[in-house]
Amino acid sequence: MNFDSSPIAAIATAPGRGGIGVVRVSGKNLSSIIEAVCGPEKAGTLQPRHATYLSFLNDDGSVIDQGLAIHFKAPHSYTGEDVLELQGHGGPIVLQMLLSRCLQAGAEIGLRMAQPGEFTHRAFLNEKLDLAQAEAVADLIEASTEAAAKSASQSLSGAFSKTIQDLVDRVIRLRMLVEATLDFPEEEIDFLQQSDARGQLDGIRDTLQQVFKQSAQGALLRDGLNIVLAGQPNVGKSSLLNALAGSDVAIVTPIAGTTRDKVIETIQIEGIPINVIDTAGIRNAADASDEVERIGIERTWAAVQKADVIVHMLDASRGPTREDEEIVERFPVNAPVIRIWNKIDLSGHRPAVDRMPDATHIYLSATDLAGMDLLRTELLRLIGWQQTGESLYLARERHLIALKSAHDHLEMAAQHAAHDSETTTPALDLFAEELRLAQERLSSITGEFTSDDLLGVIFSRFCIGK
Ligand code: GDP
Repeated sequence: MNFDSSPIAAIATAPGRGGIGVVRVSGKNLSSIIEAVCGPEKAGTLQPRHATYLSFLNDDGSVIDQGLAIHFKAPHSYTGEDVLELQGHGGPIVLQMLLSRCLQAGAEIGLRMAQPGEFTHRAFLNEKLDLAQAEAVADLIEASTEAAAKSASQSLSGAFSKTIQDLVDRVIRLRMLVEATLDFPEEEIDFLQQSDARGQLDGIRDTLQQVFKQSAQGALLRDGLNIVLAGQPNVGKSSLLNALAGSDVAIVTPIAGTTRDKVIETIQIEGIPINVIDTAGIRNAADASDEVERIGIERTWAAVQKADVIVHMLDASRGPTREDEEIVERFPVNAPVIRIWNKIDLSGHRPAVDRMPDATHIYLSATDLAGMDLLRTELLRLIGWQQTGESLYLARERHLIALKSAHDHLEMAAQHAAHDSETTTPALDLFAEELRLAQERLSSITGEFTSDDLLGVIFSRFCIGK
């Protein structure tokens, strides 16, 4: 990945047609580009962070489009550099023409196309955002439920980073105490007792545990649950999906990368995205009419293998058939199974959950909704969701690993402290070292001590123009 500091440009709005479209340019000094694209006269009138209506010009003076130009002068911009935003009409061709014109006008100062996430990477390098906030930008854009979006927006505003920073500060204060004692071994004070180092350490561990819990729950909002819905035609699979989706269906969007897989639908339960693969839509790959469909089918089967839960649906008023056995045989061996006995309004069963060795059996009716809550609760239970009312951090795997590792180092520190009632210097050494490592792990969340390689990986997953 190329992260030189030359000026960059990209179309910042989503591909396709829209009311407006934005081309964004960022660099150390953009005055030559502004002058070329906005015309020398108008360029002189641009007030920083004020919108100016003008014509975007070609090099021969002809008009590409008319719209708003906004100049964010360094350092008061998203990236911390000079930023020019050109808001024109949202057509793919006109935006492409505008982008090309910017690249042409900026050629002499080395203007090039931005790479994915490069604007946000610059914001990070110029300390406009820390790493957790930068990740929250991508998470906000990709959020598939309202709860996930709210949580990402909170992280973006710095709530998660502040919690982490507070923890880091407490670890630093404790380290300073320990290291001061290490510097004066002749004083032989019982450092651990006098300064209540153990008490401080316990307090830090408690907070860390709490943050981990809020982050692990928040990660569920981000990653959701993948379920496979299987069953014979007419057992009520579509009815079940509709019942699960309820009135929230309108604000649910398909997760990235699944939009072409028509058989995957995303619904939500308590804000957690639930990606449902409906096997009714999976045809035999041999029957596929073209290559694209065949690839789609293969991808769907791959998704089935990764499912967290298999939901096998039956008609309670008819019982299982031989086809049901065949369906079940195709599923991964170790995935948990929920067997739904639907249409209990016809069969006379009562709504119930029955946890058996082979599967959790749930009796419900998708049309009169009896027993639907049992299913919702069971799905949430399977992924470990607990509604606590606390704010949740939309954590990524990377954050959870760092928190866990920091926790382990604090645990080691506590062990050294416990063994050391006589307070000897070598054990204090080890205590201090574990604190240092815990601090390093925590700081990696907000981006201190983060390798360039990791930064490259994180930002390359952003969309272009962000
Ligand atoms: P799918 O083919 O598995 O997707 O099944 P559908 O959801 O299309 O349902 C097939 C038929 O069964 C429809 O006429 C539904 O109205 C009906 N149905 C679905 N669930 C229930 C239920 O719980 N009770 C009753 N009485 N009918 C149901």
